[in-house]
Amino acid sequence: MCKFIIFALIPLILSIGIVSVIPSSDAAESNQICIDKVWIEKTNHKIACVTSSTADKLVQRGWGTLLVIDEDISDEKLITPVISGGTLPITQTPIIGNPEKEYPKNYVPGTEELAEDEIRLTFLGTGMPFPTRSQGAAGMLIEFGNGDIMMLDVGSGTVANFNSMKISPAHLTKFFLTHLHTDHQGDLDMFWAQGIPFGRVLPMQVWGPTGDGHALGTQSFIDGMLAANYWDLKSREGTVPTSGAEVITHESDWETTQVVYEENDITVTQFPAIHAMAGAISYRIDWNGMSIVYSGDTKINKFMVEQGQNVDLLIHEAFMPAEILSEQTGMALENAMVVVNELHTPPKAAGVIFELTQPKMAVMYHVWVTDETVPLLFDDLRIPYLGPVTLAQDFTVFNLTPDSIVVRQALVDDAPWPIVPEGDAHAEKEESPILPQWLLDQAIDVEEAIKEILENRK
Ligand SMILES: [Zn+2]
Ligand SMILES: [Zn+2]
Repeated sequence: MCKFIIFALIPLILSIGIVSVIPSSDAAESNQICIDKVWIEKTNHKIACVTSSTADKLVQRGWGTLLVIDEDISDEKLITPVISGGTLPITQTPIIGNPEKEYPKNYVPGTEELAEDEIRLTFLGTGMPFPTRSQGAAGMLIEFGNGDIMMLDVGSGTVANFNSMKISPAHLTKFFLTHLHTDHQGDLDMFWAQGIPFGRVLPMQVWGPTGDGHALGTQSFIDGMLAANYWDLKSREGTVPTSGAEVITHESDWETTQVVYEENDITVTQFPAIHAMAGAISYRIDWNGMSIVYSGDTKINKFMVEQGQNVDLLIHEAFMPAEILSEQTGMALENAMVVVNELHTPPKAAGVIFELTQPKMAVMYHVWVTDETVPLLFDDLRIPYLGPVTLAQDFTVFNLTPDSIVVRQALVDDAPWPIVPEGDAHAEKEESPILPQWLLDQAIDVEEAIKEILENRK
């Protein structure tokens, strides 16, 4: 490995994220320095800067050859500078249009007021059905300048990330599900549960699709969730208000393109997605002349092309290429090809959708963001699409106004205290559950026990 030359040894103190940092503008000025990594020429003649382990894998697969220091690296062939990361978003175009105000380099939750005409969208999960400390499964928070807030999907890992956003759980009551795979709904029960002791007194509202028969629809899912968590709810009676435990379900026919939410001048429209089985949808959100489209999981389709035309943000899944999925999970390649190409969207296909819709900013999510994957994703995406794009990481934040889009990473507190809403948090009416006397007789009195411990110590 060491015979391959590392181009520079400049240390970069930007280690919070996983992806190495080569901001695009810096790359041009840095005489194409590949920091702590190696250059590789892919079979498509594009050149990337990758870790030596990635380079080894690419060479083993016959997908590229390593370059040594004296090879000519021309600008047209270079793909690496599209990648940044760490405390920077993974994009070449972090600012689109003309922002009216200057944004700090990073978003720190709780420190920035939204303007009345502004939207802030924060990814709370961007990964796979294998949540990691770096990436939760799918989910994003949208805050509107008019005060409304909502979540689109609530995959596992999103609740912990939400709690770093400095927003009271009491204020988040609206959840929109694209489908019922756990990587898109796995934390809904935790959002439901934590709201009860932490101040939510309004019912939760959940929008989601029908399925093929009642048992496969959103209403059945919510009924089952509440039944499974009945012990949790009953145990809290008498100590906290339980009005926030109610869930209002808005189940809508998954096959129909229709408006499912119209409040505070915000419109949410659903349209069908092609994913796994009946009962998957995508969403479009319109407010104040701005539009966001969110794919959920889907094979690329014509509904998306229609709904995504020239929107501000088009957030589309981009799954691992089948070869990588097969290698990383042990799944047979032919099965991986079905999963990726028939049930999901590989990066090349995401590029087709972006090219056909021309959003102000395209966004990819639903993929492991690692040194190994990022160069490959951009490699494939850039075949059909050359426009503005961001690869979302957890805590990638988009500020949208009618004139601009600004992309940043949030810097968050990993050990936040809950934000407590104003008002009375004491329970009314309900009585606390009563435990049997034989059990209570076995309880240990702490003060008595300490007294005895101290006496014995003399
Ligand atoms: Zn799915
Ligand atoms: Zn998914």
